[in-house]
Amino acid sequence: SKWKTEIELSAKPRSRRGHTVLVTGAVGFVGAHASVALKRRGDGVVGLDNFNRYYDVALKNSRKSELLDRAGVFVVKGDINDDVLLRELFGLVHFTHVLHLAAQAGVRYAMVNPNSYIKSNIDGFVNLLEVVKSTIAPPAIVWASSSSVYGLNSKVPFSEKDRTDQPASLYAATKKAGEAIAHAYNHIHGLSITGLRFFTVYGPWGRPDMAYFFFTKDILNRKQISIFEGANHGTVARDFTYIDDVVKGCLSAIDSAKKSVGRNGRKKKGEAQFRIINLGNTSPVSVHKLVMTLEKLLKVKAKKKVVLMPRNGDVPLTHADISLARMELGYKPTVDLEMGLKKFVQWYLEYYDARKKSSW
Ligand code: NAD
Repeated sequence: SKWKTEIELSAKPRSRRGHTVLVTGAVGFVGAHASVALKRRGDGVVGLDNFNRYYDVALKNSRKSELLDRAGVFVVKGDINDDVLLRELFGLVHFTHVLHLAAQAGVRYAMVNPNSYIKSNIDGFVNLLEVVKSTIAPPAIVWASSSSVYGLNSKVPFSEKDRTDQPASLYAATKKAGEAIAHAYNHIHGLSITGLRFFTVYGPWGRPDMAYFFFTKDILNRKQISIFEGANHGTVARDFTYIDDVVKGCLSAIDSAKKSVGRNGRKKKGEAQFRIINLGNTSPVSVHKLVMTLEKLLKVKAKKKVVLMPRNGDVPLTHADISLARMELGYKPTVDLEMGLKKFVQWYLEYYDARKKSSW
């Protein structure tokens, strides 16, 4: 491989007890923050990302140069569907863990490109699991599921025991399928797998396709913003979870993951671990409150248009029960929406100001 030296260097933990983690989706929002956090605490990290064009590639390149390069995380440009590349990587480095965050995210893009959800969230996941299961000492896997699997379930707060058989979008359906696939690989191949159901993650370096991000942009540009409500005037609310809290949850999931049993441990495969855990904030905030908070932080009044219709694929409310995360991971979110949005807005203004407002 042409990057053998860089990969090996990046993969090397600083201490003997450190992990070596493959992070997929490494130039994505959560992936970039998680890679840096792992590297900073002394773990070895190799990133993988196909830099897809679902949203602004310049932002992905900036995450790479300003976050990952600076922290010393090497990123391989490639697709999780490329099994030749994956086998090469797993041949070069002994990964103890995979933090699998590569996915086609977003709900509405499925109207335009349904296949990208199947390709990345189902085919790509299976391809990754196939490669992992065939290694001699398979790593433990921690991966991102989503609160969207709760779908039309209206019992709140959402507990891991609640029904998840009514997805409201193709995105949710592929995340739900991922959980089923993960369970099968755990059961048959003894892989240790933890699925984390993230709840609306936000913060600096966030995703431009998410409401808090494009509301900020549009409010600053004095453009009208649309606020979608349920047909019955029900307010839409989200359990916004700050990026640093989610990253802490991911790191604890890695630390508490049991080893995969692997192909030499057939008899013990029943002992491999399978977990599904909510990572939320347990305090849903309405879209109106979100906009009010942004107005306050930006010191600009928003031009609001209320649309009495839910957006396609959206569920009215998300609200996490995090008692399992607290028990399993010692997880405790510490950042509320106002504090978190303040950090996002600070980043946003600096980032786009440094680029002479070119992306506004
Ligand atoms: P993101 O889009 O910023 O990051 C995903 C990254 O994966 C992107 O950089 C993309 O280029 C890469 N990628 C996509 N398909 C790939 C493929 N086939 N091969 C290689 N790389 C590929 O999204 P994010 O917000 O960082 O989300 C990370 C994970 O968390 C995703 O699995 C997402 O579904 C899940 N999630 C996110 C949220 C949220 O609010 N941000 C909520 C629930 C679940």
